[in-house]
Amino acid sequence: MKPQMNTDKYGSASVCVHLWFRMLRPVGFRLLCFELLFFGLLTQHAGSGAYQGEDGEVRKLAEGVYVRIAAADQSIVSNAGFVELDNSVLVFDTHFTLEAGQSLLAAIQKITTKPVRYLVNSHFHPDHTHGNQSFAGPVHIIATTNARRDVVQRDLPAMNRTLGIAQAQIEKMKKDLIATKDPAQQAGLRAQIQQHQKFLDRMTGLKILPPVLGVEDSLDVNDTVRPARLLYLGKGHTDGDLVLYLPKEKIAFVGDLFFNSALPNTQDAFLLEWMRTLAELLKLDAETFVPGHGPVGTKSEVKDFLKYLEELKEWVEPRVTEGAAMEQVLRDVKLPPKYSSYSYQYFFPANLQKMYSELRAAK
Ligand SMILES: [Zn+2]
Repeated sequence: MKPQMNTDKYGSASVCVHLWFRMLRPVGFRLLCFELLFFGLLTQHAGSGAYQGEDGEVRKLAEGVYVRIAAADQSIVSNAGFVELDNSVLVFDTHFTLEAGQSLLAAIQKITTKPVRYLVNSHFHPDHTHGNQSFAGPVHIIATTNARRDVVQRDLPAMNRTLGIAQAQIEKMKKDLIATKDPAQQAGLRAQIQQHQKFLDRMTGLKILPPVLGVEDSLDVNDTVRPARLLYLGKGHTDGDLVLYLPKEKIAFVGDLFFNSALPNTQDAFLLEWMRTLAELLKLDAETFVPGHGPVGTKSEVKDFLKYLEELKEWVEPRVTEGAAMEQVLRDVKLPPKYSSYSYQYFFPANLQKMYSELRAAK
């Protein structure tokens, strides 16, 4: 599915995908897109079908270890996981919406009666954190210090701006409604006001819960049944990505440090360091790697993803050395056919652009 450009009298031009349309219906998706462009998330989630499965399908990876897979074009958007500890449950990421978080909690409760006590956010992007509210209560929300910074300094203000825009649009439409005498226009405006209000009500109900416990390098969860480690391995998808590593089960929940069979969202990324961080990840004694997006993988798929980043550098670096302009690089460099089955193809220009900028800055 290609991104669409949506523009109307009441909304700013926004690049959106059908997922957002499906989730929020016309009003909401325009508004959210407007703000979420900031995070570069918009086009991350429209699927090209690189992986299949019912949205929200829970899979057991090992005794007490589960993943909840997001289908490529569905509403929970990102993968999440949960681990049964001795007396409690640890959750890794909470999907994109309050409803998705609630359905994750319901899925956990079908499997165990143990309470969720620990909630880890792999990084600050809303598609991994906006379900946090569903777990409010005696839950410790954990993330890197940098991820907490970004929830507080970027995500919260962005949400407030989005709500402000929605409110302003409603006011404008109400004025237009009074001004017009055309019955068809009146009907259209009434419908739009209703939709906007519905969106506003829904988003007002969303409470962004920032992580409380901050991790700098690592944190051991010394559980007697299922010991776990939280690891910050270096900059990559953001400067605050946290990995959940289960040494006994040899499983790592990697968040968006790993896009499996998909081009990555690089909006907040540090591409050159990301490669080094993935090399660190590959040193873990793990066999199963759960990505933030895409199907569960092994070391081999993580290596494929690393290879993509390395190739991206190879495609761009000579052009930077010869002094080519970014526009020229964007025009000339095409994604090789071997990546044609990957999801999120439309990230390719942004991938090139980010690599170009980083290499230029490094010269
Ligand atoms: Zn992300």
